[in-house]
Amino acid sequence: MSRPSFQRVAMIGIGLINGSLALAMREAGLAGEIVACARREETRARALELGLCDRATADPADAVRGADLVVLGTPPAALGEVARAMAPGLDPAAIVTDVGSVKTMVVREVRPHLPDPRLFVGGHPVAGTEHSGPDAAFGTLFQNRRCILTPVEDTDPAAVAKLVALWETVGAKVDTMTPEHHDRVLAITSHLPHLCAYTIVGTVADLEEQVQSEVFKYAAGGFTDFTRIAASDPTMWRDVFLNNQEAVLEMIGRFMEDLVALQRAIRWGQGDILFDLFTRTRAIRRSVIQAGQAYERKPQLKDPEGEPDGEGVTGQL
Ligand code: NAP
Repeated sequence: MSRPSFQRVAMIGIGLINGSLALAMREAGLAGEIVACARREETRARALELGLCDRATADPADAVRGADLVVLGTPPAALGEVARAMAPGLDPAAIVTDVGSVKTMVVREVRPHLPDPRLFVGGHPVAGTEHSGPDAAFGTLFQNRRCILTPVEDTDPAAVAKLVALWETVGAKVDTMTPEHHDRVLAITSHLPHLCAYTIVGTVADLEEQVQSEVFKYAAGGFTDFTRIAASDPTMWRDVFLNNQEAVLEMIGRFMEDLVALQRAIRWGQGDILFDLFTRTRAIRRSVIQAGQAYERKPQLKDPEGEPDGEGVTGQL
């Protein structure tokens, strides 16, 4: 594996993902200098304190000046505007990538602002936690995780190769696919599960309020796991659903059909249908673990109920 090196890397947005990438790149010696861009003074100060960057600015054009690699890491809906704002400072030879969780919209919104759109390679590290901001960053986030790159027809192959090498060096396994294919796959593996978690936690919270039923006190492990996913960043997830509408709506339609089938099986006491499905899903869990995308979680001693603690567990966000 060849190790890429960059003289100056501009991180536009320096939260969980870009902060973690900055740390991982530093640890691997891939970046001469890292310049971060964020709107708020407190974000910039914290990024500097934590050693995520050497310099921080609020001006995207200033941040990218002299950079040979630019990584866009703001919430998805801001990426087009950020690309427009940074363009006047951008070196035409710089490679530009992003880490956004949706790809068709990002590729469409970012490319037109760049001096050489062929040097833009969409990217999505399929790794994350429910925490946000510079303090959430850690350098091992991408170890053994997937990173999807979404070049389009005229994307420069040398830029893609350099980014593949970058992500592999920080521990990720890289796949390439079209932005459209990415959005369809992620709609089912990530977006629908998040929507289910948001719905279930919302329903339970409403019940708790209405019937004062102490649901939270006696919440079993399943609900606790859902609350971790439903604690994910509201801005990012709003952007994901609004910008992957078509694929998400299709998956919701399929999910609702399957849910109604289960509802019917429960109503008519068709235990074999339930048993067959639960047996199939148990096997799927084993395949996911074998594919290296989840870990067996053992009950922790500190919890008398033997309930796993979801905090800090990385997932496919
Ligand atoms: P985050 O922790 O909230 O960080 C976002 C960063 O962007 C912050 O530094 C924020 O600082 C800055 N920012 C926000 N709006 C901005 C703007 N208009 N201009 C400049 N800076 C701006 O978010 P994250 O979780 O790292 O997510 C970043 C990207 O990674 C998103 O596109 C998301 O879809 C993708 N992603 C997230 C996960 C995950 O698990 N969280 C996983 C994979 C991919 P200020 O508020 O101070 O500006």
